Amino acid sequence: MKWFDKSYHTLNYELRNIFGQKVIKLSLDAGFTCPNRDGTIGTKGCIFCSEQGSGEFSAPSNLSIKEQITQQIEFLSPKWKTGKYIAYFQNYTNTYAPIDKLRKIYEESLCCKGIVGLAIATRPDCLPHEVINLLEELNQKTYLWVELGLQTIHSKTSEFLRRGYRLDIFEKAVCRLKSKGINIVVHLILGLPGENYNEMLKSVKYVTELGVQGVKLHLLHVLKNTDLESLYKKEKFSLLSKQDYISLVVDALELLPKDIVVHRVTGDGAKDILIEPRWSLDKLSVLSGIDKEFKRRNSYQGMRYIR
Ligand code: SF4
Repeated sequence: MKWFDKSYHTLNYELRNIFGQKVIKLSLDAGFTCPNRDGTIGTKGCIFCSEQGSGEFSAPSNLSIKEQITQQIEFLSPKWKTGKYIAYFQNYTNTYAPIDKLRKIYEESLCCKGIVGLAIATRPDCLPHEVINLLEELNQKTYLWVELGLQTIHSKTSEFLRRGYRLDIFEKAVCRLKSKGINIVVHLILGLPGENYNEMLKSVKYVTELGVQGVKLHLLHVLKNTDLESLYKKEKFSLLSKQDYISLVVDALELLPKDIVVHRVTGDGAKDILIEPRWSLDKLSVLSGIDKEFKRRNSYQGMRYIR
């Protein structure tokens, strides 16, 4: 089973099928904050979250959305000659603002030439009724997905992470988005301190039963100036080796149904702020390691999926 040359259902495959050509995501920073940072839920944020709110490669937030889109297209155009883009609201919590501001920002992006869809990263506890209605409206106009940072299903780890919401809050948000027909992408982090192999795969299996459309698998990154960095310096907790990570990702993808789109199989740590694991900076080698492991096992996404 293949999705172009890959043994898993990539976002590239999905977008080419929908739009008939390569589509590029443009990372935008609309200048939001997060309730886990502004004091509403907490002030320190999730333990791993960087100063940029988990969006190191976005355009600068002092530019308007239109300017950010123009800048990102110019930056990416030497590499990708494509005319179709997804506006990806990545940094912090992108539904955490008054509804009029949200509408203005999303609509500004949709008016830009070449924008064919929206991706909105947020928290499940930041989706009040009016925001869900706005997302439903946008979903009628454009190709939309909403990203939810779950990271783990285990409460002991989510408390360690200072995620700031319970699993039932996440489940309610998923139900409400699903009831409006909105595509959902769930983030999971592999290699969290204190989680063993079975616990990590339990989070993956849980996601397969949710009926969501996509998943992002991240390798845990220890980034500069985070509380995770301080803890790592103090306790030197163990981090996944490259080979263990590759093997774990393939195990996880084998459990996923074939129709779940895999948006990411590794983290994107900026070189200057990534403390560990430094091996992950060689992203191509991680991706080719995953391809080779599938080949070695003669396997593919969904091979071990049990309905
Ligand atoms: S919810 Fe997202 S933006 Fe907020 S602290 Fe956690 S990782 Fe950072």
